[in-house]
Amino acid sequence: MQPLIRNLAIIAHVDHGKTTLVDLLLRAGGDLNARDDAEERVMDSMDLEREKGITIRAKNTAVHWRACTINIVDTPGHADFGGEVERVMKMVEGVLLVVDAVEGPQAQTRFVLRKAFQQGLRPVVVINKIDRPQADPRRVHNEVLELFLELDATDEQFHAAFLYGSARDGWFSRSPDEPSRDIVPLLETILEQVPPPKIEAGAPFRMLVSNIDWDDYVGRVAIGKIESGSVRRGEILHRLRPGGARDSARITRVVEFASLRTRDCETANAGNIVGIAGFEDVEIGETLAADPEAQPLPFVSIDPPTVQMDFSVNDSPFAGREGKYVTSRQIRDRLARETKTNISIRITDAEQAGVFRVSARGAMQIAVLVEQMRREGYELLVSSPSVITREVDGRSLEPFETLYVEVPEAHLNAVLKSLGSRRARIESMHSRSGHCRMEAVIPTRGLIGFQFDLLNQTAGTGVCSHLFREYAPHCGPIATRQTGTLVSTETGTAMAYSLGALEERGRLFVRPGDPVYEGQVIGENPRGDDLPVNPTKAKHVTNHRSQGDGKAIQLSTPIEFSLERAIEYIASDELIEVTPAGLRLRKRVLCPHERRRQRKRDVVNA
Ligand code: GDP
Repeated sequence: MQPLIRNLAIIAHVDHGKTTLVDLLLRAGGDLNARDDAEERVMDSMDLEREKGITIRAKNTAVHWRACTINIVDTPGHADFGGEVERVMKMVEGVLLVVDAVEGPQAQTRFVLRKAFQQGLRPVVVINKIDRPQADPRRVHNEVLELFLELDATDEQFHAAFLYGSARDGWFSRSPDEPSRDIVPLLETILEQVPPPKIEAGAPFRMLVSNIDWDDYVGRVAIGKIESGSVRRGEILHRLRPGGARDSARITRVVEFASLRTRDCETANAGNIVGIAGFEDVEIGETLAADPEAQPLPFVSIDPPTVQMDFSVNDSPFAGREGKYVTSRQIRDRLARETKTNISIRITDAEQAGVFRVSARGAMQIAVLVEQMRREGYELLVSSPSVITREVDGRSLEPFETLYVEVPEAHLNAVLKSLGSRRARIESMHSRSGHCRMEAVIPTRGLIGFQFDLLNQTAGTGVCSHLFREYAPHCGPIATRQTGTLVSTETGTAMAYSLGALEERGRLFVRPGDPVYEGQVIGENPRGDDLPVNPTKAKHVTNHRSQGDGKAIQLSTPIEFSLERAIEYIASDELIEVTPAGLRLRKRVLCPHERRRQRKRDVVNA
């Protein structure tokens, strides 16, 4: 008899308890041994994800309960990963929506839930944390139903099963008033409500590669749901590539998911989500099949990289002080490692030695990589992002995206204005229950910095996501940063005395005591030009005490940039120095004379 299988995607706003819930499910199935793995948290393996409140890359795990395998796929919540969400939704037959019983459903889950509904998936809703004193499960239940209506749920989706309980305390029940002792009601509901995968009986093995993993022993592992048939380790499979090319290879490994790891198996059957190794350079979107004549399965295409940034060795005066890995070799190896599993990032050598060009689906995606490297101890310089243009028949084409934005109506005007200045063209707009949903076409250039603006303009309630649309003729200039900079002329320590005077010129990025160097950008000049300043001057000590001398200088808090913000902020003649200790903004060319000469050359060449 074939084992029972259920495939679920899990959707939750950060901190609503997804990790705690998945751990609990794994324990119920005996997949997570409390002794060994108590400290490990399954879905939340990246610190960075916790902070950002998003899942960066989809991950799989599986719960084995009674005779059933419940595969659980995490969903990425980041706007740069729209295509990935669609691929996840195509692998599963149901979604588990986890909602906090106090906070209710949050904006960030709307996009992913909409994609799930569009695929016709049936949700199971878990209202978690009902142990919290302010919990109001009935109100939250209604809020979830309202959200379903807004997202055009079908009748069947609207009549989703709801469970109430506390992942922390280890129980879920079908009624908020009758606590249960365990999570059996939740597991039973999943088995009842989520349909088993549809399988074409008797058909030979076929699987669409929906994700890629990397294993140090067997190399690339193709992950996907088996559509039909079964696969056995050691057998020969054929690979059908989207362009029509075909080849074959012997399968070296077949793995199922289990808790924090994968588990080798001899065979795997239709409906299961598994990993298959054997094709060295397998890619997402390819079909693996037993029959060499098989038709490829349809797939959601991977968006091409549209944005690039240069990474290089830190050559600032403080280079090597704060980082563990600082050489060009170390940076190159780290980037090479990234490309093994991160399918949407590409690395090439730039014209200049020691400079690596990193291309991706959006600036945020690259920012995530830089932030990971920083935390691992790397030190490097990164440039401002630029879009990847194409030259076709002598015309310059640039990438455009379809942008989905959802904002409360109260903030609509500000958002429309920002979209207008970014040359977005609104294609449709719908309002429901005070929420406005828009679809627009926007040049990828116009997206850089948009998410940050959106959050600012909507007090954090706006959400957006984007999908690559096409390359089309360049659509004209977009106003970039209007302000200039305050650039340090000295290397030394920033002094309160001089910073106090400089505050009159503009907003500062450094505080007293910070080491600074020549060419470092230490503040913003509200006028458009770059102003050389000396932040290291100390007050002359004299024998005559003048009035006010004893008073501490009151400085305003300097602007602190997050990496993402810094990436959006810097101009093309500036760089960000990234080290484990923090960020500094600097001019690409540190020496002021050389900068002036370069500017002149640029004018002549222009
Ligand atoms: P995630 O970000 O969605 O993965 O959420 P976590 O599982 O990490 O949970 C976020 C926080 O909520 C943690 O501090 C958990 O201990 C806590 N938490 C999770 N479930 C419950 C619950 O049922 N009740 C209470 N009171 N806290 C919970």
